[in-house]
Amino acid sequence: MFGRAPKKSDNTKYYEILGVSKSASQDDLKKAYRKAAIKNHPDKGGDPEKFKELAQAYEVLSDPEKREIYDQYGEDALKEGMGGGGGGHDPFDIFQSFFGGNPFGGGGSSRGRRQRRGEDVVHPLKVSLEDLYNGTSKKLSLSRNAICSKCKGKGSKSGASIKCSGCQGSGIKVSIRHLGPSMIQQMQHACNECKGTGETINDKDRCPQCKGEKVVQEKKVLEVIVEKGMQNGQKITFPGEADEAPDTVTGDIVFVLQQKEHPKFKRKGDDLFVEHTLYLTEALCGFQFILTHLDGRQLLIKSEPGEVVKPDQYKGINDEGMPMYQRSFMKGKLYIHFAVEFPDTLSPEQCKTLETVLPPRSSVQLTDMELDECEETTLHDVNIEEEMRRKQAQAQEAYDEDEDMPGGAQRVQCAQQ
Ligand SMILES: [Zn+2]
Ligand SMILES: [Zn+2]
Repeated sequence: MFGRAPKKSDNTKYYEILGVSKSASQDDLKKAYRKAAIKNHPDKGGDPEKFKELAQAYEVLSDPEKREIYDQYGEDALKEGMGGGGGGHDPFDIFQSFFGGNPFGGGGSSRGRRQRRGEDVVHPLKVSLEDLYNGTSKKLSLSRNAICSKCKGKGSKSGASIKCSGCQGSGIKVSIRHLGPSMIQQMQHACNECKGTGETINDKDRCPQCKGEKVVQEKKVLEVIVEKGMQNGQKITFPGEADEAPDTVTGDIVFVLQQKEHPKFKRKGDDLFVEHTLYLTEALCGFQFILTHLDGRQLLIKSEPGEVVKPDQYKGINDEGMPMYQRSFMKGKLYIHFAVEFPDTLSPEQCKTLETVLPPRSSVQLTDMELDECEETTLHDVNIEEEMRRKQAQAQEAYDEDEDMPGGAQRVQCAQQ
């Protein structure tokens, strides 16, 4: 949608191209176009540019609404109404809809008729990390439009269609709204009478199978092969399996893999990550545990004798990560991230026992003199993330108040740079 006053531009060119006067009737226009289009058709050795101009001129002048805009405001107003494209429609489409087939007879030359490409249909496909590790296949039943087999997509028993009277066969209607003395607004939309196809079918001639819709609903089962090592977001394409439509190259059905969160394993590229919490005793004196892998194998994970694991430490196992896509004999790494759970409190006796094996407490060795010169403090528990969040919120609040003052918006812009 847009609204503006179009400046007066050339509004005689189209009449000159067709060689008719400005008062030409629809019949005059038809005769002029028929004669000139056949003469200049590229299949007959005509000039493609001239042929295009003729189609463009005829397309506009044969549509009373477009002709009115053209007469009043010229070509530019129409170009804007066409979304800036200006070119309008395929000249071969216009030619064909005018003659309703091949006017040269024989050979069924539909050359030059550009085929539209149908839209791709994209489906998300949820998969587990196990599916991506082991590979799997999923059968999916989809319904789609298929060209009606009875009428071969014509929609009629006889194969004939009538040019839609609502849009003169263009499939598009332009509506004009007057916004002011020299302001018009044009809106372009698909013709409601022919659903934008440009043609209608006689009620009695409708194909009984598709009721004139040209397509029928069809159920189709697709087997999606999820290969080992495929990634979240990877696409699996079935070319030409989307909705069929007449005169249209059928689009693809595309499945986009969406990996569900795994409760235990996280994936980064070809590597896997696992979190594991050790008790302090295990971290100090050794541990072993069983990890069930994504293919059900039981891995025994254990420390070396005498080894101590520290909080936040990582350890890796080669070839236990994800299989690589299309080279599934190669695998990434499996990383284990260790957390260490400490006891909340210890009794004085437990501390004494620990001190017999662990290094002595250096902090206890302060002299009375040193202590006398110190100030006493109290340590209290904090949730550091919570505290930081609160502080940030307070800072934001103060900033927002600041922003209400004149010139605030400018300051925001500066702050964002
Ligand atoms: Zn129509
Ligand atoms: Zn049919």
